[in-house]
Amino acid sequence: METNFEIPSDVLDEIQNNIQNIIEGFDIPEANKMDVIKKINFMYTQTKQMSLTDALTGLFNRRHFEMEFEREYKRAKRYINDLSLAIIDIDFFKKINDTYGHSCGDYVLKECAYLMAQNFRQTDTVFRYGGEEFTVILTETPASTACVPLERLRRLFENHQFKFNGEIFKVTLSIGVSSNTSFDTYIEMFDDADKAVYDAKNSGRNMVRQAIEKN
Ligand code: GH3
Ligand code: MG
Ligand code: MG
Repeated sequence: METNFEIPSDVLDEIQNNIQNIIEGFDIPEANKMDVIKKINFMYTQTKQMSLTDALTGLFNRRHFEMEFEREYKRAKRYINDLSLAIIDIDFFKKINDTYGHSCGDYVLKECAYLMAQNFRQTDTVFRYGGEEFTVILTETPASTACVPLERLRRLFENHQFKFNGEIFKVTLSIGVSSNTSFDTYIEMFDDADKAVYDAKNSGRNMVRQAIEKN
């Protein structure tokens, strides 16, 4: 039976902080206790990392994105910091799967993740949001400069050759960006960036589109 129950991250941290107390309740020889604590700590770190990472690309996953973006959004509002969010969607990705096969699609996703991770500043974080969609949180970045790294990424893809099993092909990106932090919630800012992606798709793809600035 599948269960959707997930232990919240702060509860997991609380359990981890109390491992030593928990161990005391078990009949473990004194000499082995340190080894057991180390092993549990290692397993805990591994599990936590796996729960935040996308297995295919190695990027942070959607769950991690939701937590990080909510926090950054609240921080930006509270301290009146600049913040931009980009949503990146691979153009005609289904066609890559259909033409060259699913393994080739997987290779493209991995290569995309590699190119994206290289393109941004260390203070910007790239996530695999799902399928062939990625998000980037650009901290301390206003609308006036958000398009610079995104346009650079778009061009990087335009000039990059993907090679798989002797096939050579190109991949382009449609990118939507919002720098509006005047909404009530981070979800509305996400939707604002998402609309900009649709705008990029409807305007011909392979482009960066910025949401209209709000005060
Ligand atoms: P558009 O330009 O409008 O974005 O078209 P698209 O083909 O990129 O978008 P669409 O939503 O039609 O197709 C997305 C495809 O991504 C469909 C799905 O099978 C594929 N996909 C999602 N996750 C994975 C994955 O992990 N590996 C592979 N190979 N394909 C995936
Ligand atoms: Mg998509
Ligand atoms: Mg797509």
